[in-house]
Amino acid sequence: MKAVAQLNKDYIPTLEIDNGKLVKNPEAPSRLEGVEIFVKNNFECVNPKEYPLNYLYNIHPKWYVKHVENLSKNAKNEYLPEVFLKDRILDSGTPITKKTYNAAINAYYTVMTGVNLDSKYVYILTRPPGHHATSNFAGGYCFFNNAAIAAKYLQSTFQERICILDVDFHHGNGTQEIFYEDPQITYISIHGTPEKFFPWISGYRDEVGKDNGKGTNFNFPLDEGITWEEYKVVLEIALEIIEKISPLKLIVSLGFDTHLKDPMGYFNLVDEDYKKMGKLLKKLDIPIIFIQEGGYDKYANTNAAINLFSTFKEGENA
Ligand SMILES: [Zn+2]
Repeated sequence: MKAVAQLNKDYIPTLEIDNGKLVKNPEAPSRLEGVEIFVKNNFECVNPKEYPLNYLYNIHPKWYVKHVENLSKNAKNEYLPEVFLKDRILDSGTPITKKTYNAAINAYYTVMTGVNLDSKYVYILTRPPGHHATSNFAGGYCFFNNAAIAAKYLQSTFQERICILDVDFHHGNGTQEIFYEDPQITYISIHGTPEKFFPWISGYRDEVGKDNGKGTNFNFPLDEGITWEEYKVVLEIALEIIEKISPLKLIVSLGFDTHLKDPMGYFNLVDEDYKKMGKLLKKLDIPIIFIQEGGYDKYANTNAAINLFSTFKEGENA
């Protein structure tokens, strides 16, 4: 297993507006520092390389990339839109600082470096996360959609089908929207029901894709308090779909905010459950690229990563 890590440690958003109040923003580099130490001690870890921006433009139009750059350049301290959708930001929880654009571009380089690594299993450990970013809206701490960039790059390079399995607690509204009409890229998400949880606007079962993409979008919304016994049943259904498609690669949008101790997610998975998750994923015998999304408790994230990836360390010579 190989890994590439870039936590953009100088990009530290501090605030967000939640329920009308200014609160501490949890999307800080410290949330993943324990995971980074684990990764560097256990996997062959490479440094990100710079890439031309054309693979970014395959997902996000140039004007949107420029817009994020301008917002970032013009930000004084920290800019928070107080109204939903203002400045093409879906919510009031996604602040922009002078470091935002560089961090999002660095995440892009990290993704491109990761997808080009020669290994059956790859872990791309980066932030800001991506799955809430649509092609032309930021939101949910996300600016560029890292998983979508990876999927589109692989699909267009190899002309083969790609699956994205999103196990973050929150529905990846951005990834769903980007590939909603795309028959080559299947999006499958297991998440807290949008009736109660962010991003509220999407993640329902009847969102199945459109036109040529009909039948390539699968949502499994679950109620809060789910334990492994219930989660596993749904995960196995998702894995059966992936097995049937038999994609060239599986991209896992990996959020650890499904952990019992996570302050932003409301499932009850515990450390050892991630080991079981890893075992089920490995049983697929399909190359996997893990891309970090959410997960906001430093210790829960570290323990989840150690457990999940233990399976991929054992007996894996790729
Ligand atoms: Zn999340």
